[in-house]
Amino acid sequence: MYDASQDRDGTLVKDYPDADWSNVLHLEISPDTISALKKIPDQYKIFIVTNQYLIGEGIISFEQFLTTHTEFISVLGQSGIYIEQTYFCPHSRSISCGCHKPETGMIQQCLTNYDVNIPQSYFIGDSAGDILLAHTIGCKSIAVRDYASTIQPSQYSHTLEDAVTFIQTDHVS
Ligand SMILES: [Mg+2]
Ligand SMILES: [Zn+2]
Repeated sequence: MYDASQDRDGTLVKDYPDADWSNVLHLEISPDTISALKKIPDQYKIFIVTNQYLIGEGIISFEQFLTTHTEFISVLGQSGIYIEQTYFCPHSRSISCGCHKPETGMIQQCLTNYDVNIPQSYFIGDSAGDILLAHTIGCKSIAVRDYASTIQPSQYSHTLEDAVTFIQTDHVS
């Protein structure tokens, strides 16, 4: 199978300064997220791979993460978008947990559970950690939105819509 992994915050939904997350009761889905995810070719399963160190650092509770994320997944589901799996790292940044992106733990877990064609898979994100992780794993990387790092992705697309258009033309069917 093929994997189209997505960062969540700043890529699929609005991101905030860390302290502001404590007040977030509903994730704000970015305007092009639903239309873009709908266009991902059928051969690709969609995974969400997200650092949630705010849980470990006490800024949001695990329940808050679970409630808001579950609502988000269900809103996507109402639009016919199926998220195969969410992998999240809840650990504080002060811990060497092995799963905080760009460390590979979350993707390793995915590779244990799914038979993924890595070179033909994609990781989409808005941070250097997303792109570095993709490089380490050996899949293609697409940087989106306000990506500003000097680490070169395989592709830069300003919008998620453009990123998926790239996948549609780039992927080997
Ligand atoms: Mg992000
Ligand atoms: Zn972790």
